[in-house]
This record gives sequence, structure tokens and C-alpha cells, in this order.
Amino acid sequence: MKFNSVRGTKDICPPEIELWQYLEKTAVELLQDYGFSEIRTPIFEESGLFNRSIGEDTDIVEKEMYTFADKKGRSLTLRPEGTAGVVRAAIENNLLAQGNLTKLYYLGPMFRYERPQAGRYRQFYQIGAESIGSSSYWRDVEIILWCVEFFSRIGLSGIKVYINSVGCPECRPGYREVLQKFLQENTTQLCADCQRRMVRNPLRVLDCKVETCRQVVSRMPAIQNYLCQSCRDNFQDIQQALQKENITFTVDKFLVRGLDYYTQVVFEIKSENLGAQDAVAAGGRYDKLVKELGGPDMPAVGFALGMERVSEVLKKQRAGALMETWVDIYFALLGKQAQQESFNFIRDLRQSGLKVEACLEDKSLKNQMRQADQGKAKLTVIIGEEEIRKGIAMVRDMQTKEQKEIKLNDLVSFLKELKLK
Ligand code: ATP
Ligand code: MG
Repeated sequence: MKFNSVRGTKDICPPEIELWQYLEKTAVELLQDYGFSEIRTPIFEESGLFNRSIGEDTDIVEKEMYTFADKKGRSLTLRPEGTAGVVRAAIENNLLAQGNLTKLYYLGPMFRYERPQAGRYRQFYQIGAESIGSSSYWRDVEIILWCVEFFSRIGLSGIKVYINSVGCPECRPGYREVLQKFLQENTTQLCADCQRRMVRNPLRVLDCKVETCRQVVSRMPAIQNYLCQSCRDNFQDIQQALQKENITFTVDKFLVRGLDYYTQVVFEIKSENLGAQDAVAAGGRYDKLVKELGGPDMPAVGFALGMERVSEVLKKQRAGALMETWVDIYFALLGKQAQQESFNFIRDLRQSGLKVEACLEDKSLKNQMRQADQGKAKLTVIIGEEEIRKGIAMVRDMQTKEQKEIKLNDLVSFLKELKLK
């Protein structure tokens, strides 16, 4: 009997996992530098939480959620995104206080029943963050800047920032009407989903991926001309701030997000080095969601980035430098006695924080030296029968190829003093 991973999921194995660990470590450090604290929420929630926050007419809620009944018949859903759970948890645990800013980040798997393809999985990993409690547009800028800074820190080039404003409850109804009227005139070119969306939630048509719908969208009236004064000012302010901070961006007047809770500025970051699924991060402001989920009336802004896509581009750009397995010291051992003598040394060195690997499997010296090379060992310690007899070890510098004889009694202290870390 042989089992395979479920369609749309994948294993992240060594050496790729080293890349992931590097990405996570870099992201977490940078998030903490920006004042975000981690929050870990459950992978499943009550289905109602997502229906309510993401919106009934979105692709996610309509067809992508992993929803199931538990043994008591409660409807639960594997989280398709992070924000709803974070906001639910922040309210439930009283993390939000009027007048205070709460900055939270999360990382972990998300689940969406989508058609699997390059860069699109059914279980995928996101790193994301939320700033809850401020309406300052500098918080939007801070989030976008974090993303730009992160991509630059990991050495990812070819990154582009797109922004748009999706308005607020003041001005969106007006635009909605204009949109509805336009769509009604073009109904025949819309897919079945969009014909329904057109009536219930016409803004969703902007996010449709069907080609004929995309063509209709390209001729659609842009939201910019229908924004209220305060959304217009906010959009201007953000653009000026981004310019001032030297963050290059493009206004994409048809950019909307696949979730209903966004208000005002939304953004997306794309990589030039990915195929069709080129969005590596996305986010925006969601000033009504906290209240909508039963919390205080608090504005908020956040983002999420897709780990698979980031790792995919990074692999193309600089995998070699990041995916090596580093070993400080490799022990090449010949014979039972050498293994016996060395096991203790290895234990001692590992306790002192050095990365140590050894061959404990009776292989030829040639084979063992190849292992040492592959592990990029800085030093190899060679102990064979001859060395045991003499009470010494041969220590080889893998870079200069110089070899030294060291007494077995002195070996551990000698290696520790080299400060290989
Ligand atoms: P897309 O337009 O690519 O479907 P989205 O609008 O659904 O993205 P968000 O919900 O905003 O994406 O999620 C933020 C990021 O998470 C995306 O920019 C992408 O990098 C990643 N992401 C989203 N869905 C998937 C998926 N099915 N597989 C892998 N990564 C994903
Ligand atoms: Mg999507």
C-alpha cells in the first residue's frame, strides 16, 4: 500500500526547508523590529466567522472553503486566510483597547479549495500582520514599507507594488450603482458567477479571473472618479508618503481584493519572475471589520504574503547561497573503536553549540570525505585504527587542505577554541 500527498498539497523537504526557515526567521525578525507581536490562532474556526468577514459572494466563501460538520454537527471551516481569526482572537482575548494600537503577526498554513497549479495550492503558507486601532495612513505606508523592506532583505529583485482605493461605505454605494448599470449593459459577456455577482455584489466582478469578464472589466468606469472627498484625500496622502519614502508603485485602478472587508487603500505586490500566479503579497485597510465581528469600532490595516511563491522566486534567484547544509565539523571514522572513542567528543561539541556530524556507518574514507564536502564542513576530524593506536586525531581544514595531528585527549578543547561558529 502506497500513499501520496493529497492533490494541491506538498511536502517541504530538505534542502528547500532551509530556505523556508531562512524566510521565516528574516520575516519574524523584521516584524518584531516593526513592533508586531506573534499571535497563534486555531487552524479551524466556526464557519460563520469567515462567511461574515470575507463576504458571502466572494470566491473564497462561495467555493473554496474546507467546511465540514464536527461530531456534534457544528459547521467548522479550515481557515482560508488569517485576518478573520486574528481579529476574532484579539476581540475575545481583550487585546483591543480604544485609543491603543495593537500590532499582531501570524504565520502558518491556510486552506482553499482552488484548482492546483504552479503557485496555487490547497494548503499554502502565509506570513501576515495586522495593525489594529489606527486610521493614520502612515500605518498603511508602514505595512507596505515592511513588505518592500522584507523583499529587499531576502534579496528578491523584480518586485512591483500596485495600489488602489476601494472607497468606503460613504462612497462605495454610489460607485456600486454606476457599476451595476454598466454591467447590466454588458450582461451577455459575463460568466454565470458574475451575472449573479452583478446583482448582489458588483465590485466582485472586478476580481473575476474569467477572460471575457476581464475584458468587460477593462472598459469599466474606474472607482477613482467616484471616491468621496475623504477617500480621495487619503489616497493622495498615501501616494505622497510612498513617494517621499522612495517606494515605487503603480496605481492599478481595477485592483480589488478577493475579500469583502477592505476599505480605502488596498495593495498587491507582484514578482516579475513568476508566471500567472505572480502576487507574492497583498493587503489593505479594513476599517469596518473589527466592529462587524463584535469588537469595538476600530480601524485596521494588514497584509499577507504567500510563502510558496516567495520561496519559488528566491529559489530561482539565489538558491545556491541559501540552501546549503552547513556543518562545522565532520568526523570521518574508520573502525569500531574510532566510533566508540568519538561518540563522546561529538556529544560534547554539540552541547557547546557546534554543528557536528559523523559517519557511524562503516564507509570508506573516500566516501566519508565526500560527505564532509557535501555538508560544507569547515573541518574534518579523521580517526582510523592507526590514529587510535597513536592516541591522536587528524584534523583537516577543508578550505586550505592543511592537516594537523592533535592528541585525542586535547581534541575537544582544541576544536572548541577554534571558535568555528
Ligand atoms: P490570488 O489573486 O493570487 O488568488 P488572493 O487575492 O486570493 O491571491 P490573498 O487572499 O490576498 O490572495 O492572499 C495573499 C497572498 O497569499 C497572495 O498574494 C499569494 O501570494 C498567497 N496565496 C493566496 N492563495 C494562494 C494559494 N492558493 N496558493 C499559494 N499561495 C496563495
Ligand atoms: Mg485567490
